[in-house]
Formats: sequence, structure tokens, C-alpha cells
Amino acid sequence: MLVVGGSLTGLSAALFLAHHGVRCVLVERHLDTSPHFRFRGIAARSMECFRGVGIEAAVRAASTQDQRAGGVARMANLAAADVAWLPTPWEDDIAGLSPCAQETCDQDQLEPVLRREAIRRGADVRFGTELLEFHQDADAVHAVVRDRTAEKRYQIRASYLIAADGVHSPVREALGIGRTGPGVLEDRMSVLFRTDLDAAVRGRRFTACVVDDIAATLVPRAGGAWMMTVPFDPRAGAGTGSHWAGLVRAASGRQDAVVELVDTLSWQCAALLADRFHDGRVFLVGDAAHVMPPTGGFGGNTGIHDAFNLAWKLSFVTRGAAPPALLDSYERECRPVAQHTMDQALARHRRWFPATAYATGPAPDTTIVDDNTVMFGYHYRGPGHPPFDEPARPTGLPGTRAPHAPLDEHLSTLDRFGCDLVLLGADPWRVAAARISTEDRIPLRDHSARTGDGVTGAGAVLVRPDGFIAWRCDAAVDDHTSVLRGALDDLGLVTARMTYR
Ligand SMILES: Cc1cc2nc3c(=O)[nH]c(=O)nc-3n(C[C@H](O)[C@H](O)[C@H](O)COP(=O)(O)OP(=O)(O)OC[C@H]3O[C@@H](n4cnc5c(N)ncnc54)[C@H](O)[C@@H]3O)c2cc1C
Repeated sequence: MLVVGGSLTGLSAALFLAHHGVRCVLVERHLDTSPHFRFRGIAARSMECFRGVGIEAAVRAASTQDQRAGGVARMANLAAADVAWLPTPWEDDIAGLSPCAQETCDQDQLEPVLRREAIRRGADVRFGTELLEFHQDADAVHAVVRDRTAEKRYQIRASYLIAADGVHSPVREALGIGRTGPGVLEDRMSVLFRTDLDAAVRGRRFTACVVDDIAATLVPRAGGAWMMTVPFDPRAGAGTGSHWAGLVRAASGRQDAVVELVDTLSWQCAALLADRFHDGRVFLVGDAAHVMPPTGGFGGNTGIHDAFNLAWKLSFVTRGAAPPALLDSYERECRPVAQHTMDQALARHRRWFPATAYATGPAPDTTIVDDNTVMFGYHYRGPGHPPFDEPARPTGLPGTRAPHAPLDEHLSTLDRFGCDLVLLGADPWRVAAARISTEDRIPLRDHSARTGDGVTGAGAVLVRPDGFIAWRCDAAVDDHTSVLRGALDDLGLVTARMTYR
């Protein structure tokens, strides 16, 4: 497996693949991870993904939580007396929904954790290595990469390629996959700087502050580190240090502020969805597949969810436990989720920043739902259903996330899922599952159903390694083995028994 891109999504993909025991090489053209904060709010659902591969504690240890309290403020500038509060992005009370609380861990702190844990699980992570070109045939993907440090080129042959190469995705471009959506809403510059703004902040705590005087956003971090994003005209050049320092002073309302500039990064606030997430042996994940405005903090989280959806499928296919057709479900499942999530980010963008170009364009026909509904209520039920389910009322239907119920003080029902398919049900179902697992040699385990699993009477529920319900049976049956086998075949999960063993 070849993963291209060693940022948030690529490193997550490598970690998840390594967790499943899939051999993978990751190439990243930069020599190290980025110093820019960018993604900071790890949704509780993303924390569930990290918990599933055993790194929840490691991520929490890297938390940058100190700046979290208070939500998103809005002021003329930081020194202004009046503060308005934007609708809180994260509801804290999700105890009934998940064993995991959301976490604040800025991208520059999270990526080294992902990198370290992916390597620890066996991923071959090569920073300073750029993908130059690739082609695919019926058997493999053939890539040419350049080691920037040793200045040498070499080839990599991989069964599949995961393109986590970001919004401008050279892989997506090479495949000629177009994108659809409102497009670029704004060019912005992120400015990392250090300063003491305590006098301006006056003890008010916020995750981010929208500064209306110069249409900036200020993001604080402990110890005097800050990120400011401001509108930016690329035609005007990159701007000098004194230009950015002047804008920092304007945003802070303190002309006397001493500003130490650390770095700048230009980026586009955009909303675009790749027309396809999949081409032969190549899969697009993260910003390569979908880019959305940061309003809501969904972009990076959606990339993590893409990688989590794809990793177990690639694991099943590469070890012969499922036919390659299983991989078609990646686009079928994740593309609509990305579309609905992008709509939510756009709707928030329009509400919070009504003066931007997008606000003057066609109105999105989207009702804003709360952030936890977006992050927990996404589903793979297919068309014809509302975009999001209500997380507090799990339906237990195929295509929805299996509900969480506590098993004890520390363990959740979700902790039973992770690598294999899991059958939840009474003894006859468990016997059938054990038999199929042995006879058909498929990764299928069984557990007694617990209260909260949504298993009815004599029925059973089959859960995928990513914690989504694959199938359920509510009726009493005579031949549990043939019913379960039939279900697995219908799901395209174990035609392996017939043709791939
Ligand atoms: C200011 C800002 C704030 C944000 N805040 C949030 C937030 O709060 N919550 C949230 O969920 N999301 C947020 N996001 C979005 C989030 O940062 C992105 O969704 C995330 O970085 C996407 O990660 P990625 O790995 O898909 O792509 P990228 O981060 O763009 O990484 C792509 C990587 O691929 C590498 N690459 C490209 N081509 C090649 C090649 N040929 N060979 C080798 N390597 C290559 C690049 O060097 C890069 O490292 C924010 C974004 C910005 C800009």
C-alpha cells in the first residue's frame, strides 16, 4: 500500500492500515510535519477512531486544551469591550453518545503523535520523499518517487495508492478527476506569531476570536503563541513581516504590541467535492477528496473518517477476506457524507460571515444541525434518508454507527469492534458465527448482545470493524448459519469463501 501525503489524513491512514496489519509506505515531500495549527478540534467520533487503534491516551497527552474554554468570540478587535459569542461549535455533554470526549489538539501537535504511532505499528513513513509520477495496471500501482535528502529517484510498486496529498492533489489532477461545488470563497493567510496580548484579552477565554475590524480570526495558544488568519490577495505578493505585524496590532487593538513573526501560510477557504473518490487502485481521502470552509471544524475530521472507513476494507481485500468490489463502497459511502458535511460548513460560513462573496451567491438549501449531529449522525444508509441521523436516538439500522453503552467505568460496547466483523446475538447466532469464521476463514468474532446493542429478542446484529452496523436480523430463524452466510454474501464480504480463498 502506498500513501501519498504525510499530513493529518495520510498519517491517519497509515496508522489505521498499520493497525490492521497492512504493510504500507507513506511518502511526504516535506522534511517534517507542518508547524501550522490548522485543525484543532478533534470530534468525539474521531477520538473513537483513535481509541479504536489504541492511541486515545497518546492524543490526549498532546492536548492543547488550555485555550478551549469559552467558544468562539466576536469582537471589533481584541481590546474592544463588547464581545458577542458565536454558536458554540462543540457541545460538551456527549457522555451518553460516546466513551470519548472531543479533544483540542492542534494539528502541529497531533501529527507527530500519528506519525510516531504509525511507525510503532510498522508503517514505513518516509518524509522528504515526493511522488513524481505513477500509473496503474490490472495488478498494481507503479510509482516513481524522489528522496529529497539523498537526491535519488526510485520506484515503488503497491497494490493500492491512497492519495492524501491535499487540496491541490497532484494524484487527483493526474487522474483527471474534476471537482464540483461553490469553489474558492476567499484567499487567506495564516500568520503564526508570538506576543503578549494578556492586557488586551483581559482574562476572557476563547477558542478563537473573529475580529471584525480586519475580517481576521485570532486563535490563541498557551505561552503567547497565536495564529491569525486574514484575507489575502495572492496577486499582491506574500507580504512583508512588518505588513503582517501591522495587521496583528490592528487585530489586537494594541499598537504597542511587540510581535515576533514565526511563519506564514497561504490557503484558500473553499468548498469543492471531487467528482469521484476512487479510480481503479487509487483512492482519494481528506482534502484531496473534499475541501470545506473551517466553519464548524469538520474538514480534518471528515478526512480521518474517510481513512477509517477505507482502512479496514483494504485490509479485508488484501488478505483475501473480501473481493475487491468491497472497495467500491468507499466512494458510495464517504462521498455523500462529505457532501452533507460540506453543506453544513457552508451554511455556518454563510451565517457567521454574511459579508463574504459566497453569501451573495445562491443560498444553500441547508438547515444547520448541531455539530455533534454532523460528526455522529452521518450514516451510510444511501439516498432517500435525511443527511444525518439524530445521535441521541440510534436506530440500529444497517449503515448507522453502532450505539455506545458503557460496559463498566472504562469500557464501552464500542471497544468490542476494531479489526474483525463482530456478530452480536444469542448462542445460536454465536455458534453460527464461530462456525463460519472457521470454515470460511473470515475475520468474524462473536459476542453476547448487551443492553443498548439494539439486538431484538432472538435477533442478531453484525458490526463492521469501523463500528458501523452492516446487517441486522430481527426475526427468529431456524438455520442461523445459512442465514448469516447469506447475509455476508449479500454484503459482498465473504465471496472470499467461494473465489478468493
Ligand atoms: C486555517 C485552517 C483551520 C482549520 N481548522 C480546522 C478545524 O478546526 N477542524 C478541522 O476538522 N479541520 C480544520 N481545517 C482543515 C484541515 O486542516 C484540513 O482538512 C487537513 O489539513 C487536511 O489534511 P490532509 O492530510 O487531507 O491534507 P494536507 O494537510 O493538505 O496534507 C497534504 C500533504 O500531502 C503532501 N503532498 C502533496 N503532494 C505530494 C507529493 N507529490 N508527494 C509527497 N507528498 C505530497 C503535502 O506536502 C502535504 O503535507 C483547517 C484548515 C485551515 C487552513
